[in-house]
Amino acid sequence: MENNIKILLVDDRKENLVTLKAILEAPGLEILTATSGNEALGLMLEHELAVVLLDVHMPDMDGFEVAELMRRKEKTKYIPIIFVTAISKDKQYIFKGYETGAVDYLFKPLDPVVLKSKINIFLELCRNKQELEESKRQIEAKNKRLKEISIRDGLTGLYNHLHFKEILLREFELAKRNETDISCFMIDLDYFKDVNDTFGHTFGDFVLESFAALGNRVIRKTDVFARYGGEEFVLLLPHTGLDGARVLAEKFRQKAEAYLYQQDGHSRRVTISIGISSYFFHHPQKPADLISFADKALYRAKAEGRNQVRVYLEEELLKTGTLNKQPPEMLFSLRERLKKILENTKKNILASFETLIQHPGNNISENGNINRDGNNNSEVSINRENNRRIQETLELMGERLGLSRNLVQTFKRAAMLHDLFKTFLGDKTALKPGPLDRQEQMDIEDYPFMLEELTRTFDIFAQERVILRYHHENYDGSGYPDGLKGAEVPIGARLFALVDAFVAMTSNRYYRPVLKPEEVVDELVKQAGNQFDPMLVNHLLDIIKEKQLLPVPKARLREAQKKIWSE
Ligand code: GH3
Ligand code: MG
Ligand code: MG
Repeated sequence: MENNIKILLVDDRKENLVTLKAILEAPGLEILTATSGNEALGLMLEHELAVVLLDVHMPDMDGFEVAELMRRKEKTKYIPIIFVTAISKDKQYIFKGYETGAVDYLFKPLDPVVLKSKINIFLELCRNKQELEESKRQIEAKNKRLKEISIRDGLTGLYNHLHFKEILLREFELAKRNETDISCFMIDLDYFKDVNDTFGHTFGDFVLESFAALGNRVIRKTDVFARYGGEEFVLLLPHTGLDGARVLAEKFRQKAEAYLYQQDGHSRRVTISIGISSYFFHHPQKPADLISFADKALYRAKAEGRNQVRVYLEEELLKTGTLNKQPPEMLFSLRERLKKILENTKKNILASFETLIQHPGNNISENGNINRDGNNNSEVSINRENNRRIQETLELMGERLGLSRNLVQTFKRAAMLHDLFKTFLGDKTALKPGPLDRQEQMDIEDYPFMLEELTRTFDIFAQERVILRYHHENYDGSGYPDGLKGAEVPIGARLFALVDAFVAMTSNRYYRPVLKPEEVVDELVKQAGNQFDPMLVNHLLDIIKEKQLLPVPKARLREAQKKIWSE
């Protein structure tokens, strides 16, 4: 009954419906009837109709009104309508029907032959449509199945080698672009040849299948697990750094080791070896590197006895100091987060510049004569339009060249700064027609230097950086990293070293037992000239004395200060 074609007859007189139904009845055709517009609309929503035969003249809602309401609902909008009416001669009337969506008219009294043949046309159309839809569905299902087959491995149901490479390409690009980490496992079953040799290939296949299922239970939804070939598997872990990867690999290894493969009276455990590579840790240049690094690590795991996890070049990288002894991804992810803050700050600075340009009068002159005389508003708006286009084009070029988002942002900011600084400086040559005179030529040649100089103002932590670099230097030259001595150590670094140590010595939050106040003073004196700048120690003792930072008698402090100078 499902494939029956349905039509709906609407007439307020029951006897008319009976007659019509008798004429039209045919196998494969389901005829619904309604005696009012309301009933008809209800049926239309419930059924898929091939055509509606609609009486025009009905008491509570006429045929045109029904048609009007049909046009408002998605479900009923396109159902063809044949109006049935006794009033045949009024053309106006007929037009009205076509306007509301009629495809045809039938006039009472109805001629059974005409009626039947008109309805048959719609039935034929409807059948064709149904067939077309059915074959479309079949083709779609087949295509879907074909696609599934082409990307999956027949035995394990995992992604195959080819499809894995495609995903790898995409994920690698994403990681690069968004500067997120990504890790890769190469997994190989240990002594698998022996499994085949002992129990036969059928059992070997069973092991591979079960292992794939086991893997699927260990990994996350976003991980990509694939059969790389033979008894080798590959696992891609987007958004996962080396630490996370290592934990998962070990878990995977243990699960595999504990699993007992059992079939047809055979049973056997099979261990696995895993090689790991990670994007932030190993800096692969291209997707294939990620695989070959993991593969080399796997080779090492095999060579060192199998049933173990190895990270590519881990010992070497740590030993040669190529990588920081701290877990490097910690430094990486911290730097990533700081970079975000910096990005935001840069954005804010640029926004402030923009405000400055848009409101040139705004307390600028009092800050340093950045009045842009000669720059009228139309010039500013030309600049802005040009800048907008520069930004857009840089974006497009960056995309084309596959540059990272950060790099493109940097280019765009440079363009912004160029534009903003030039506006501040009042670039009088920009819109000048014809050749430049000598003075103008010289001005132009100065611009790069001026722009660089202005940008330098915003090199925000440049001075702080110096202090951080040297705060472990000692006054006597015995510190690190550069072994600077005395005044060679920047004053800020000398000062910070002293204050930092002083606070540490007098704080009870440190694991070291707190020194007694007198001992702190002794320590400061002892280190004056060695670890600390004696002049600064002297000043610190002055402050301790004046502000009573330590419960030490003033006489004792004076004595200490004398001692510094006598040494
Ligand atoms: P190792 O610990 O060094 O990895 O030793 P292994 O024996 O696992 O390594 P080797 O590469 O020498 O052998 C792999 C075996 O896996 C050989 C091959 O016949 C078998 N193999 C590869 N694909 C299939 C498969 O689809 N089904 C079965 N049953 N065996 C397979
Ligand atoms: Mg093997
Ligand atoms: Mg192998």
